[in-house]
Amino acid sequence: MPATHEVFNQVQPLTGVNLFEGNRALQDALKFNAPGLDAAPLAELGRLACSAEMQQHARLANAHTPELHTHDRFGHRIDEVEFHPSYHALMGAATQAGLHGTPYAAAEQASGHAHVKRGAAFMLFTELEPAILCPISMTYAVTPALRDNPAIHRDWAPKLTSRAYAPGVQSWRDKPGVTMGMGMTEKQGGSDVRANTTQAVLDGEDGWGRRYRLTGHKWFFSAPMCDAFLVLAQSAGGLSCFFLPRVLPDGTRNVLRIQRLKDKLGNKANASAEVEFDGTTAWLVGEEGRGVPQILAMGTMTRLDCALGTSGLMRQAVSQALHHTAQRSAFGKLLIEQPLMKNVLADLALESEAATALALRLARAFDRAADEHERLLARVLTPIAKFWICKRGAALAQEAMECLGGNGYVEEGGEGVLARIYREMPVNSIWEGAGNIMALDLLRALRKGDVAAALARELAPARGQHAALDRLVDTLPTRVDGGTGEAGARTLARDVALAVQAALLAQTAPAAVVGAFCESRLRQPHDVFGTLPSTTDFDTIIRRAMP
Ligand SMILES: Cc1cc2nc3c(=O)[nH]c(=O)nc-3n(C[C@H](O)[C@H](O)[C@H](O)COP(=O)(O)OP(=O)(O)OC[C@H]3O[C@@H](n4cnc5c(N)ncnc54)[C@H](O)[C@@H]3O)c2cc1C
Repeated sequence: MPATHEVFNQVQPLTGVNLFEGNRALQDALKFNAPGLDAAPLAELGRLACSAEMQQHARLANAHTPELHTHDRFGHRIDEVEFHPSYHALMGAATQAGLHGTPYAAAEQASGHAHVKRGAAFMLFTELEPAILCPISMTYAVTPALRDNPAIHRDWAPKLTSRAYAPGVQSWRDKPGVTMGMGMTEKQGGSDVRANTTQAVLDGEDGWGRRYRLTGHKWFFSAPMCDAFLVLAQSAGGLSCFFLPRVLPDGTRNVLRIQRLKDKLGNKANASAEVEFDGTTAWLVGEEGRGVPQILAMGTMTRLDCALGTSGLMRQAVSQALHHTAQRSAFGKLLIEQPLMKNVLADLALESEAATALALRLARAFDRAADEHERLLARVLTPIAKFWICKRGAALAQEAMECLGGNGYVEEGGEGVLARIYREMPVNSIWEGAGNIMALDLLRALRKGDVAAALARELAPARGQHAALDRLVDTLPTRVDGGTGEAGARTLARDVALAVQAALLAQTAPAAVVGAFCESRLRQPHDVFGTLPSTTDFDTIIRRAMP
């Protein structure tokens, strides 16, 4: 066939760069939050996560979505989900990188930076594939809650922290590593879990404590091939938290009926199920009637991961936009040289760097939980970071996609990376407590200590750096000390997030970044990307953000 035209001015895929070594914002945030940290494993993960081989796994795991098999061919219920081999390759790589329960291993704890280090690695892996990180994140998150059943924790902790990935429905005893999920949401209510109707009836007591039979359902139940789950159900003493393994200690399968898999907007590689319990065996974790605070010990850590994961996705979107515009020309110039595109790209880069700074700062608070100030900050900044970073993520993805023009909107069998990012972004804002729930949780957190004093201490190093930041910080004490009602909760969450982000950037980023961030976000609400003042040092900001 004769060629009808020459293909030119198209862009090479972003492959084979080191995601860690090219991410100066992440490196500077790490120096600030975990000085002295050995970054070699992160550089290795940064290389792996952008390799052509792993990118191919990410594409395939999203193109060939999980399949539910409720029965075997002889009619027995099996309730298993089959994944493409690339899903398992990604899970194996994430587990090997220690993104699941590894930070709770004694050797990691001894470093003093276990959560920051793992948080940085989680961000990097998100740039490869975010959906498989759902079970990885839940396995990371479960330990603080599971500790309240010491017998189960003693048996399961070595497998939750091991770097071995072992798929399949099998007894935990025979597996070198395990994964865990969580089940709270029912049809009639997800935010208000007090409406849960699943019933738990006491069935006896054994080496794992009080054993119950559960009957009911969960409307959202992600990663149902996990080895065990923490679930909520109503017992005689009220809503309680239970440990529900897929395989019982005697080696038989527990009853977990997977009814359907959700047909989702994004998050394609991950299976999210609807399930039913019918006399399902589970053990009490914590006290009867204390189910919500119990499972929120897990939810707090998954909320941290929503902030970390969204920051990783933002970074990926910005890298894609920069990479594309540095190769594509229009109207006689590379797009990245067009003044208005510079404004858009620099603005996206600011948002991404601010998200990275806030998410890693929050991770540091979990590393220093013995310190009262850090404990209070973790409590306050978790809903703030989850709310604000996830909200900004969806807007950023749309703008980054637009930088690629029509190609950004095209899926092309999973090769359309920005289309995938765009579809993934909103889920971090919805699950683990949607935006309003996070803002309302902030109001609860304000009652947990002297938050005004904690914020003043946190923001003090940035005092005097920018007039708009000083003005915003001055408004905070009265607003956190009882001056904010429910209707104003989002505004407060946004403003505290912006103040903390600006203060962090003031301590870690070049003056061009700090000045542009404060000018564009603290003087008035930031609406559309690409509206930085024309005096902004666009080139310095863009150069810093280049992947
Ligand atoms: C892909 C995916 C996977 C999921 N996986 C899991 C899982 O593994 N386990 C699990 O337990 N759940 C899971 N979920 C469920 C998720 O956590 C819930 O959807 C979420 O918590 C919201 O609950 P809901 O859907 O019942 O919405 P609702 O509770 O009905 O909330 C709807 C809206 O109302 C707002 N709202 C609620 N109360 C108030 C109030 N008092 N004031 C103002 N606004 C309010 C919320 O912010 C939200 O925007 C998953 C969800 C998705 C999309």
